[in-house]
Amino acid sequence: MEQTIEEILRDTRFYELLLGFDRQIADAAHAGPCRECGCKLHWGSFDRKPRGVPAGLGREHTRRFSLCCAKDGCRTRETPSSLRFLGRKVYLGAMVVLISAMQSGLNPARMKRLKALVGVSRRTVLRWRDWWTSAFTESPFWRAHRALAPAASTADLPASLLRSFDGAIKRQLISLLRFLGPITTGRGILQAI
Ligand SMILES: [Zn+2]
Repeated sequence: MEQTIEEILRDTRFYELLLGFDRQIADAAHAGPCRECGCKLHWGSFDRKPRGVPAGLGREHTRRFSLCCAKDGCRTRETPSSLRFLGRKVYLGAMVVLISAMQSGLNPARMKRLKALVGVSRRTVLRWRDWWTSAFTESPFWRAHRALAPAASTADLPASLLRSFDGAIKRQLISLLRFLGPITTGRGILQAI
């Protein structure tokens, strides 16, 4: 049976899966050269302090993979895209997507469960929804990529975008987090609000 959104939010295996994807992306970047000078890249990962991380997950789940050029005088930092950290948002990307996409409304009972589960307040969720329909839809990324998801309606983000990917909810979420990669780092990074 398909998991509910709340079950996914506390499913540690799901976070392990996302960590594995991030590791693959970072390893591929590590194998390549510095984009400024062509030298070797060293690891320069750093700790984030995301909120809402489920109990039982190790320290590696709060670590943002990052690289740094080994050459003196260059030292260019390269932070690969991530399926876990949605730009500078303090909650994990999966939470920002799933909770913002909840269709049946933020009734008090549900808000109470979400507060207990990931510590998120109603005000934060409303702010996320606002972010999807303003900062996100106005971003160069969305203007360039919205044609890839023609069924997604701006007024109903991110739920309509999530639904535009194939498969069960978890697979849709992974596809969406992958799609959002360009806004998680570098020049395309979207500010948290
Ligand atoms: Zn360099």
